[in-house]
Amino acid sequence: MAQGVWAVTEQRDGAFRKISYELVSEGRRLADKLGQKLTAVVIGASMKEKAKELSQYGADRIIVADDPRLGQYTTDAYVEIMGQLVKAEEPSVLLMGASVQGKDFSARLAGRLGVGMAQDCTAFDIENGGLIATRPVYAGKAYTTVGFENSFPQMATARPNVMSVLAPDAGRSAELVDAQFTLDDAALKTKVAEAIKDASGKVDLTEADKIISGGRGMKGPENFKILEDLADVIGASVGASRSAVDAGWRPHRDQVGQTGKVVSPNLYVACGISGAIQHLAGMSTSKVIVAVNKDAEAPIFQKADYGVVGDLFDVVPALTEAVKKYM
Ligand SMILES: Cc1cc2nc3c(=O)[nH]c(=O)nc-3n(C[C@H](O)[C@H](O)[C@H](O)COP(=O)(O)OP(=O)(O)OC[C@H]3O[C@@H](n4cnc5c(N)ncnc54)[C@H](O)[C@@H]3O)c2cc1C
Repeated sequence: MAQGVWAVTEQRDGAFRKISYELVSEGRRLADKLGQKLTAVVIGASMKEKAKELSQYGADRIIVADDPRLGQYTTDAYVEIMGQLVKAEEPSVLLMGASVQGKDFSARLAGRLGVGMAQDCTAFDIENGGLIATRPVYAGKAYTTVGFENSFPQMATARPNVMSVLAPDAGRSAELVDAQFTLDDAALKTKVAEAIKDASGKVDLTEADKIISGGRGMKGPENFKILEDLADVIGASVGASRSAVDAGWRPHRDQVGQTGKVVSPNLYVACGISGAIQHLAGMSTSKVIVAVNKDAEAPIFQKADYGVVGDLFDVVPALTEAVKKYM
């Protein structure tokens, strides 16, 4: 019988991404409700030492699949290994991240295992001994709660930045297990030739704690400087609406929305963005939303916790100066 909750972590260059701590913390809560053990899964190269810290976030057991070929994520290698691990141990619940990597990984893994999966969930619970997942639908206009019928493992991905991270407890320890797997070079169809890093040095939007976004109201690429000034003062990343990206003002990696990134920061400031449903789909689970728009009827104000009706070219620099006084 399927037993145990698994949280599949994500690492980049040997460091865990924030979603990893969120998954382990959420996995701990679910494992407690089920009365089962929590296993954290780490796939990478030379990750054994680093993996130990996951015990502090509640893992009872840490399985490490360590191999020089696993330093960079590739779909075929990671899916092959997870497929083998899941078949060998049969966990009841499998949590992954709804990050760019996690969405690719989880969808292919669900296909390999032949199980259903709930993608991009914002809450989990246990009902009648099974996983219940809440996920936004219709571009965030509604939420649906889904369960799993006779499908194990019950697989779901968590939207980054939504699940809270447990305070690390250095007193906790976990069993460290070397994963048993075979990885045939001939089966690996893709190899990462080179990883080109974003030169901006800013936190990726999906992991950012604060985001300042600009839309068509910015009127041109050069004006994003006023958003960057505010972002620098409060330690935020800069995002954009699709209009700003389509106009060539910002790179596509900055786009927030249905066809861009789904973000969930603690603070989202929308400047000169009308609040089209496709934009809201990417940011409506942000904890606090602030809108700056000169049109009081703009739909973004229906979603905003705080709104400023005014010209962003006056409001944003004034906000930057005001914040500086408190720093
Ligand atoms: C299939 C599909 C997918 C899409 N995916 C996305 C997506 O991922 N992300 C996304 O963002 N959009 C997406 N869109 C596009 C979306 O429908 C909107 O067209 C887009 O979000 C509008 O961008 P905007 O708010 O920047 O521009 P606009 O709708 O033109 O709004 C500009 C706003 O700026 C305000 N403004 C102007 N000047 C000032 C000023 N000086 N001070 C203050 N406010 C000012 C105006 O009042 C206005 O509200 C998608 C559309 C489709 C059909």
